[in-house]
Amino acid sequence: MKKIYCDISATTPVNEQVIDLMTSIHKSTFGNPSSVHKYGQESHIVIEKARIETAQALNCHQEEIIFTASGTEANNIALEGLVESDDHIISSTYEHPSIMNVIKNLEQKGAKLTLLKPNQNGQVEPKKIEKEISKNTRLITVMFANNELGSINNIKKIAEITQKHNIILHVDAVQCVGKIPIDLEEMKIDMMSLSAHKFYGPKGVGALFVRKGIDLKTILNGGGQELNLRPGTENIAGIAGLGLALSMATNHLKENMLYVKKLEQLFIKEIDNYKINYVLHIKDRLPGVLAIGFPGIDGQSLLISLDLKGIAVSFGSACSSGTTKASQILLDAGITEDLAKSTLRISFGKIHTEEDIKYVAKELSIILKRLEKKSYA
Ligand code: PLP
Repeated sequence: MKKIYCDISATTPVNEQVIDLMTSIHKSTFGNPSSVHKYGQESHIVIEKARIETAQALNCHQEEIIFTASGTEANNIALEGLVESDDHIISSTYEHPSIMNVIKNLEQKGAKLTLLKPNQNGQVEPKKIEKEISKNTRLITVMFANNELGSINNIKKIAEITQKHNIILHVDAVQCVGKIPIDLEEMKIDMMSLSAHKFYGPKGVGALFVRKGIDLKTILNGGGQELNLRPGTENIAGIAGLGLALSMATNHLKENMLYVKKLEQLFIKEIDNYKINYVLHIKDRLPGVLAIGFPGIDGQSLLISLDLKGIAVSFGSACSSGTTKASQILLDAGITEDLAKSTLRISFGKIHTEEDIKYVAKELSIILKRLEKKSYA
């Protein structure tokens, strides 16, 4: 059976060159980067090379990059390291749990929290953010692109607002680093989180950009590595893998974006040819990320039927005790409950061929016909 992985937003396979680099590092560069001897120096050099690659890819200074164990950890270090008990935080209702659970915890410790819903385009409106700013507002944390919808926020505009009001802006860019251009010199983001496994790098390694001058308190205690913000002996091979994967993604960004957009257009053309009834929720979205509803169809059953045909996609809603609940994120973006329950996230990437896309569209049309018959029975 053919196997086609269409869940690029969940994670990506690792680039061959990244695997080769990591394997060679595991074999030969094992010294503790904090050790003074040559073994240690060799490992230290590997990490600093990756820091330079990361900084170049994002157009920031290398001292502004902290390597972490995940996007989740980067988000925790940024928010908990900044916010004090009387601070006001503005964020959105559709943040990833690695933001949402941290800000809810901070709220319990005394911080004030304002959460804004996205509009129908899946965006948090900069004007609404500005309206909520008060004299205690310390932090605005808004995701760059949403993981369920694929929608992209106007971070440039939000950064102009935070600059004007002297407020710190943190951006969870885990979904879009390596997928769309991000220039930290041009966009005045203060802190930004990323994760290697979303751009064809290894799992379990991420990074936090912290603009010079921003003072974060330590939330993890240890040996002082990574400016004492992420202490612990570094994952040398993982960090090197992140650096290479990010360089590869940014060096080929335009061609990858064009290629993935072409695949996306082909998919839409194919499903139109099969006369599939669908609703594409977001117009301006990350290349290759489709939040797509199939009216009258149960999304969970569709996902399982596709999986049985070797096609992996994702379903944003929670399934508990046999009943499918509509995703709150989709509901907040103004999608009706029925449509939300029928919505899948299909995400394509550079690993796909036109043949893959045609196969997915064909199988989808066959399964939908079967499921439609069932729902009318
Ligand atoms: N933020 C967003 C928007 C994500 O989509 C994810 C992962 O899916 C994360 C953060 C967490 O990243 P990690 O898996 O590296 O912890």
